[in-house]
Amino acid sequence: MTKPCILLDVDGIFADFVAPCLDAVYAHTGKRFFSDDVTDWDIMKALGIDDETGAAIYKSMQVPGLCFGIPPYDGAREGVDRLREWAEVIAVTSPFGGEHWMHERDRWMVEKMGFRKDDVMHVRSARKYRVWGDAFVEDKTETLRKYREHHPECTNVLFLRNYNKADGWDGLSADGWPHLVSLLEHRLRR
Ligand SMILES: [Mg+2]
Repeated sequence: MTKPCILLDVDGIFADFVAPCLDAVYAHTGKRFFSDDVTDWDIMKALGIDDETGAAIYKSMQVPGLCFGIPPYDGAREGVDRLREWAEVIAVTSPFGGEHWMHERDRWMVEKMGFRKDDVMHVRSARKYRVWGDAFVEDKTETLRKYREHHPECTNVLFLRNYNKADGWDGLSADGWPHLVSLLEHRLRR
């Protein structure tokens, strides 16, 4: 019997992309913010940073080593190893930009999360619905809504973070890795 296929986004699920953003904001503005300050998926908007400054900050992050240095979230490696016991696990990640991102993201997923490179798909958010799975896990509510429109039969799960809790998602949600693992086991393990 084929295993159920679980599609997982990477930033916000495995990788704490907010951390290097806050460091870059500090380097650029001298203001130190914390993850609790990020209450919107648009980090710069949440911090009250104008578009021009935000673009300059994001540009400053397109340097070698940044992507590979992103800290993993607690419980991510243990959680994904649990899922692999009974499911095919595929990462579906939208590249941030710059010359180094995709190669470093591949290496990060292989070295830190135990993925095979073949199982890391670089797909921009607007096209993630073109990838099929039995479950789709995202932290960006807009992407998840679009995916559900195309795949209502799929187990669509919002990975709860401070910045998406007010988005009004009315479907399944997971509050941390242990919760995600038990939710997916309950719904999909055969
Ligand atoms: Mg994400």
